[in-house]
Amino acid sequence: MDDSGEFAELQPGLTNGELVRGLWEQGKQTTTGICLCAGIMGIMLGGGHGYMQGRYGLVTDQILEARVVLADGSWVTASPRENTDLFWALRGAGHNFGIITGVKFKVYDRLEEWSEVQMIFSEDKLEAVFQLSNDYIEEANHPPELTVWHLLARMDDLSDDAVVVMSLIYRGRFNDLEPYVAPFRDIGPLAEQQHDGVPFVDLFDINVLTEASTTCDRGLYRHLAPTYLRQYNSTSLRKVYDIFNGITAKYPEMGTHSTFMIEGYPIQGVTSIHPEDTAAPFRDYPLLLSPQLGYTNPAHSNDILAANKDMRRAIVEGSGSEQLNAYVNYASGDESLPELYGHEPWRMRKLRELKRKYDPTGKFNFYMPIS
Ligand SMILES: Cc1cc2nc3c(=O)[nH]c(=O)nc-3n(C[C@H](O)[C@H](O)[C@H](O)COP(=O)(O)OP(=O)(O)OC[C@H]3O[C@@H](n4cnc5c(N)ncnc54)[C@H](O)[C@@H]3O)c2cc1C
Repeated sequence: MDDSGEFAELQPGLTNGELVRGLWEQGKQTTTGICLCAGIMGIMLGGGHGYMQGRYGLVTDQILEARVVLADGSWVTASPRENTDLFWALRGAGHNFGIITGVKFKVYDRLEEWSEVQMIFSEDKLEAVFQLSNDYIEEANHPPELTVWHLLARMDDLSDDAVVVMSLIYRGRFNDLEPYVAPFRDIGPLAEQQHDGVPFVDLFDINVLTEASTTCDRGLYRHLAPTYLRQYNSTSLRKVYDIFNGITAKYPEMGTHSTFMIEGYPIQGVTSIHPEDTAAPFRDYPLLLSPQLGYTNPAHSNDILAANKDMRRAIVEGSGSEQLNAYVNYASGDESLPELYGHEPWRMRKLRELKRKYDPTGKFNFYMPIS
């Protein structure tokens, strides 16, 4: 931590959990990913979504300066003053240009007192839940403190079929969250859990996102297929539900390791950064959807991969646009470069020029390489 208390020095190998807890102990916080076992470097280089983004922007927006070993072996600084083109590219397409050996990262005084409600709905309530959730898409109705997360998941103790889980995660006390909760309660959840006055550092346990959670289990095959969206579409989500319910019924081993994630983080902090200022595209999309299908038996791969693709196809078809906008950090690998890095022609032109300049022989082509 710098003496000013305004930035911290992060180095590779650091996990979200170490960052969240390390800052917390020093009275600080910042935008991080929401799952504690993932590494902060990879998340940061591809954008990085988390609960704090409504206030502070993406994880990548917190970089003040990065030190990078380039393909020619030189060690440079990228910042708003030095190697500004590299600084632009690192923030969103950063897996491509060199080895980050450290970053100066913005941090903020910590805010206490979060609250949360989690409701679980039977499948027949799916349309009602997502139609109502659309009311909270508009920025005006979606305060920067509120995250609206949905999951399709199996909860065998509650239902034989997959259920719809909805969490409202709020920076503030439950009294202020209650007006958002009441209309969902009217739909009739199977179960409801509330938490009030929760320190930020404890949110991860409540949401089963600590290092000990099944999300962090190792030794699994996992498939994702991300799509950014502007609105919930209950018709396509019904199609997704049927595919998810079918494939997880067919392969029960998937049940505890698979969900369909519908992440609705606030975007005020994200859109406060000009879209052309970093390589991170799709800033004004409030929803990120993706299957997350985990299993151990490779004999099931073909079937599960097909379901993964079918779910994304249903979502894209229901979006009213043929265009896929995908989150690079969740990429399944079959996306085109513009689908990951942005459709504006100038973005790919600029990224290709910078790739030629900083990594002409493709030494840093490990992840979603720019070619
Ligand atoms: C359990 C889990 C939870 C997740 N939660 C979130 C979340 O809350 N929010 C979110 O936005 N994303 C999340 N993700 C997705 C995440 O953004 C990506 O998986 C990301 O790649 C993880 O980064 P890592 O450093 O752990 O991965 P790694 O596999 O170590 O790195 C991924 C790629 O990043 C590059 N890279 C890593 N370190 C460096 C470095 N020092 N210099 C240059 N390049 C480097 C390399 O190309 C590498 O191939 C999650 C993923 C998992 C598995």
